[in-house]
Amino acid sequence: MNEETKRPWGILTGIRPAKIATNLLLEGKSKEEILLHFIKECETTPEKAALAYEIACRELAIEKQMEKNGISIYIGIPFCPTRCLYCSFVTCGTRQAAKLIPDYVTALKKEIAYVGDLLSKHNRRIETVYMGGGTPTTLSAEQLETLFCQMEASFDLKFCKEFTVEAGRPDTITPEKLEVLKKHGAERISINPQSMKQETLNRIGRAHTPEQIREAVKMARIFDFSCINMDVIAGLPGESLTDFCDTLKEVEELSPENTTVHTMSIKRSSRLHEYLKDYPLTPAQEVAEMVDFSQEFLRKQGKHPYYLYRQKNQLGNLENVGYAKEGFDSLYNIYIMEEIQTILALGCGGVTKTVNRDTNRIERIFNVKEPQDYLLRLDEMLERKASVFELEKK
Ligand code: SF4
Repeated sequence: MNEETKRPWGILTGIRPAKIATNLLLEGKSKEEILLHFIKECETTPEKAALAYEIACRELAIEKQMEKNGISIYIGIPFCPTRCLYCSFVTCGTRQAAKLIPDYVTALKKEIAYVGDLLSKHNRRIETVYMGGGTPTTLSAEQLETLFCQMEASFDLKFCKEFTVEAGRPDTITPEKLEVLKKHGAERISINPQSMKQETLNRIGRAHTPEQIREAVKMARIFDFSCINMDVIAGLPGESLTDFCDTLKEVEELSPENTTVHTMSIKRSSRLHEYLKDYPLTPAQEVAEMVDFSQEFLRKQGKHPYYLYRQKNQLGNLENVGYAKEGFDSLYNIYIMEEIQTILALGCGGVTKTVNRDTNRIERIFNVKEPQDYLLRLDEMLERKASVFELEKK
C-alpha cells in the first residue's frame, strides 16, 4: 500500500472535509488557494482536495436558497427486519420490535404533536422532513398512515421542499406502504441494496435477494416517486473490486436519481467488530480502487457528487459520497452535513442540533437511544426540547 492510499485525506480527521472548503470559499479564497490549502496544509491528495472543493461549491449554491426561518425535522424509527453485520445503531429486530412498535408509534405521535406546537409558537417553517432509522418501512401501512396523519395534523408542511423516507430494506416494501408514502407526499425514498451479490447479502445478515431489490424499485416506479436513492458499500467483507463494480453497474441499470457510495467502516459496537477475525476484509488499496471507480462511473451516468462525510475506522481512510442527477441533491443531507440549519430530531436515538449561523454555535439535545427507555422517559424528552429555540439563539 502506498502512502497516498493510506492517507488520502492526509492529516484531516474530522467527518466533514467539505465544510473546510465551504468556510474557505466564504472567506473569499480562490479555487487555487483552497486546493493548495488541502494539499499543502492538510496533506490530502489532489483528487480529494478537488472533490471537497466541488462539493463545497454545490453546497454553497444550495445554501443560498435556504429559508431564513427554515427548520428540518428528523423522525427516527429504530426497527429493522434483521441486524446488518456492520450496524452500530440501536435497532431492534422484528421479533423484539413486534411488541414495542404499537407503543412506539403512540409515543412518537405525542412527540410530533408537542414539536408541532413548539414550531407554530415560534413561527418556524419546516423545510425538509427525513424519516430514517432503522428502517421506517418495518412499520405496517396502518402504522405509517397513523404517523403521517399526526404529522399533517401537527406540522404546517406547505413550505416543505423535501420529504424523504428510508425504505432501506426491500423486504419491508409493499404496494400498500408505498401508497401511504406517496399519498402523504413522501416523494423521496431510499431502497438500499448495499451489494447485489447474494453471497454477500447472506454474509452481512440482510435477509433479502438482489431480485427483491429490483422488484422494489420497479414497484416504486409504478407509484411514480420523484427520487429514488440507492446505497452501496465499498469494501464489504469478502468482496472484490469486480464484485463492487458489478453491484454498481446493476444498481445503475435501475436508474436511481441518487446513489450513495459508502466505504466500509468497522464500528466498535457492530457484530463485525466483535467477530472481526471471521470476516475477510478487503485490502485498503482495493477499496480505494472501488471508490475511484464509483466516482468515474457515476459521473458517466450523469451524476455529480453533492455531499460527503467521513466516519471513524473506514477502510483505507476513505469517505462516503452522495451522487445525484442534476436537480436531485438531497437538501436534508446537505443541511445536516454542513450544519447550516437547525434539525429537530424526534424518536429514540434522535439528536437535535440547533445552529446559530451568526455565532456559528451548535448545541445538541439528545433523545435516549433504546426504544424501551424512550417509552418510559418520553415526557423527559419533551421537556428537553422546550428550550430548543432559546438554545438556538446562543
Ligand atoms: S438497515 Fe441500517 S439500521 Fe438497519 S440493521 Fe442495517 S445498518 Fe443497521
